[in-house]
Amino acid sequence: MSDKTDTTTQSDSLREVIEQYWGYDDFRPLQEAAMLSVVENRDSLVVLPTGGGKSLCYQVPAMTMEGLAIVVSPLISLMKDQVDALRACGIPAAYLNSTLSWDESRDIFDEMRAGTLKLLYVAPERLMNSYLLEQLVQCGISFVAIDEAHCVSMWGHDFRPHYRELQQIREVFPEVAVHAYTATATEQVRQDIVNQLTLQEPEILVGSFDRPNLSYSVEQINDRIQQIRTVVDRHPDESGIVYCISRKEVENVANTLNEFGYRALPYHAGLPDDERSANQESFIEDRTDIIVATIAFGMGVDKPNVRYVIHAGLPKSLENYQQESGRAGRDNLEAECCLFYSEADLFSWERILSDQPDQVRQASLNSIRTMLGYCHAYVCRHQQLVTHFGQVLEETCGHHCDVCRGDFEPVEEPLVLSQKILSSVYRQDQRFGTSYTAAVLKGSRDKKVLANGHNSLSTYGLLKSESLATIRNWINQLVAQEFLHKEGEEFQVLKLTETGWQVLKGERTPTLIQPRIESKAERASRQRQDVEGDAWDGVDHDLFQHLRQLRFETAEQQGLKPYMVFSDETLRGLARHRPSTSEHLLEVKGIGQKKSEDYGERFLTEITTWCQTHQLSQDIDLEKPVPRKKAVTPTKKLNETVTEAFNLFADGKNVYQIAEELGRAATTVSGYLSRYIQYHQLTNATPWVDEKIVDRIETAIDEVGDERLRPIYDYLNEEIDYEPIRIVVECRRQRESQQTD
Ligand code: ADP
Ligand code: ZN
Repeated sequence: MSDKTDTTTQSDSLREVIEQYWGYDDFRPLQEAAMLSVVENRDSLVVLPTGGGKSLCYQVPAMTMEGLAIVVSPLISLMKDQVDALRACGIPAAYLNSTLSWDESRDIFDEMRAGTLKLLYVAPERLMNSYLLEQLVQCGISFVAIDEAHCVSMWGHDFRPHYRELQQIREVFPEVAVHAYTATATEQVRQDIVNQLTLQEPEILVGSFDRPNLSYSVEQINDRIQQIRTVVDRHPDESGIVYCISRKEVENVANTLNEFGYRALPYHAGLPDDERSANQESFIEDRTDIIVATIAFGMGVDKPNVRYVIHAGLPKSLENYQQESGRAGRDNLEAECCLFYSEADLFSWERILSDQPDQVRQASLNSIRTMLGYCHAYVCRHQQLVTHFGQVLEETCGHHCDVCRGDFEPVEEPLVLSQKILSSVYRQDQRFGTSYTAAVLKGSRDKKVLANGHNSLSTYGLLKSESLATIRNWINQLVAQEFLHKEGEEFQVLKLTETGWQVLKGERTPTLIQPRIESKAERASRQRQDVEGDAWDGVDHDLFQHLRQLRFETAEQQGLKPYMVFSDETLRGLARHRPSTSEHLLEVKGIGQKKSEDYGERFLTEITTWCQTHQLSQDIDLEKPVPRKKAVTPTKKLNETVTEAFNLFADGKNVYQIAEELGRAATTVSGYLSRYIQYHQLTNATPWVDEKIVDRIETAIDEVGDERLRPIYDYLNEEIDYEPIRIVVECRRQRESQQTD
C-alpha cells in the first residue's frame, strides 16, 4: 500500500471514531494532522487556542491504536471531569491520583492488566512512581500525551517543577512517541517545551489564535451595575463570569446582582475553601447562572457553555485578558466578552502592586498600560489581540467586535478637534496629564486650573459642550495613535510627538471616534443580533429550555455535569431538528452511539411529546430524507414509567385513565401511546378510540393530510381532541409503512 492510501485509511478510521463516539462529523482545523502524527508515532507539539479541540487530538488516536495511552495532566481536580466526560461517550478511560481509595486504584490496575483501558490520566508526580511505571511497561503503551505542556517551561505562566521530571519518560519508554499540547502562544515557551521534553524532530502544529466565536467589546464605566445587567439580560438562564479587580468589589457586585434578583455567587481567595469550591461546583453544574470572581477563578474550570465573560474593571494584562475572556464559548458557540474599565483602574492596580519589588511592579504597570492602549485603540479587537500574540489576521472580524459592528463612528472634523486638544497640551507647557488637559478644554473651575491661570489660555473652554469623560477618551485615542506621548515618573505627563506636531501644522489627520449616536433600543437590538448570530436559527427556544431542564435532571441522576450529558450545541440541534427516531437522533451533532443508548429514549419521548403538544413538525432538515414510510423500531430499553404505561395500553385502557393512574399529563401519556404503537407496529386505533371517531379522523386526514395535527383538528371543527387524532395518525403511518415494505 502506498503512503497516501495508508494515510487515507488512517484518516478514515479516525473519522469513524469521531463519529461513533462523539457524534461529530469532521475534524477541526489541524486536528487531522495532529492525530496522524500520533498514529504515525511521530513526536508532536500542538498549539491551539482554548476550545480549539486539543483533547480530541490524542483521545481519538488512543481508540484506533493498540495499547494504553497515557495522558499527563496537571490538575487533579479536572481529571475526574475529563474521565467522566469520556466515559459518557463510551470511551474506556480512567485516572490515577491521590483522591482515589486503595480499592479504586486496584480496580484500575486490574483493568490495565486486562487490556480493556484505552486512556489513563495521571499527574506528572504520579507517573514517575516506579510501581506504576512497571505496570505500564507490562501492559504496553501506545503513546504519551502531555496536556498543558507549557507547565514544563519557566517562561510560561504556570510552571510546575514536576513537569521537568517527565524527561525520564524517554528512558523508560524509548520506543514511545511523546505529544505535547498547549494554548500558550509564545515562541520562547514553544522552544522550551521541545527542549525540556526532548521531543525528537517533532511535528509542530500552530493554529490561529483568533477565537472567531467570541464577540469583544469595550466600554468606559459610567454605571457599572447597569452595564453589567445589560449584558446579563441578553443571556437569561445562561452561564456567565463577572471578573472584578478586588475581593471587596466581588462581594459588592455579587450582592447587588442578587438584590436585583439574579442568581450570582462570589468567588475569591478570601472565602473559606469549602464555600469557594461549593460556589464553583454550583456554577459548573448550572445551578447558578453567574459567578462573580477575582482572577483566582478559572484554573481547573473546563465549563464549555459559558456564554459571556464580563470584566468589571481593567484586566492586568492582555495575556490575562486573553485567558480570562477565553473561558467564554469553549464549546465554540457564540459568546461575548465585555470589558468595562475606567482609567482610575490603573490606580487600583498600583495600590495592589505597591508591595511588589520595584522591577515586578514596573513590568506589571507596563502590561496594564498596554491593556489601556487596547481599550483606546479603535481597531478590530480580534486583530489587536491576534497581533499582540505575534500572528496576523488579514481581515477584520466583520461584526464580532464593537469596532467592526459600528458601536462607534468617526467625529465629523477630526483635524480641528485634534488641533484643539494638541494645542492645549502645548500651551500648558506640556507639563500636565490627561484629566487636567480635559479640565482646561472643558472650561472647568478646577482650583488647580485657576491657580495656574490656565483659564486665560485660548484653549480654555474650547470643548465646553463635551463631557470630561469624552474629552479624556479623545486624548487617550491620540496617545494610542502616538500623536501624544505619556512621560514622567508615573507616565502621567502629556507631550507632543513628532507626528503630533504634524497634526498641529495640518499635515496629518488622526482618526477620532465617538460612540455612535443612536437610541438605546437601536443599540440593544444591534448588539443582540451580533451575539445571537444565526446559531439559533430554527431552534425552538421553549423546547431548548425544556430539554435543558431534562439535561439537568439526567445529569443529576447520573452524577455527571450537565455538559457531559449533551453540549449546548447538541441541545440546540435537538430543539432545531426535533428527531423522532433513534436513527435521526444519531444525526444530531454530538450524539454518538453510547449517548444515544443512554439518553436517547428519554429525550426522544420528551421531544415527540412536546412537538405533539405544541404542533411542531419533527425531523426537520436532517441530512437523510425523513423515512416517513418506514417504521423504525425504537431502541429496546424502556424506562419504568413507559413500561408501566405500555402494560396499561395492552389492557386497553385509554389515555385519560392511564394519565390519572400514573399521575402524568394526558399529553405525556399520549406520547407514550404513540411510541407503543410504533413499538408494536400497530395499525388499528380502535382499542383506544371509538370506531366512529376513527372514521371521522381518517376522512379528515384524506382531506388535509397528516403532516401536522392542527389542520385535522380544525377540519373537525375542534370537536375532537388532539389525543385521539394523534393515535389515529400514528396507526395510519404504521399501516402505510407496512404497505410499502
Ligand atoms: P481545548 O482542549 O483545545 O480547549 P477541547 O478539546 O476541550 O478544546 O474542545 C472544545 C470543544 O470542541 C469540546 O466541546 C469538544 O468536544 C469540541 N470539539 C472538539 N473537536 C471537535 C470536532 N472535530 N467537531 C466538533 N466539535 C469538536
Ligand atoms: Zn472586529
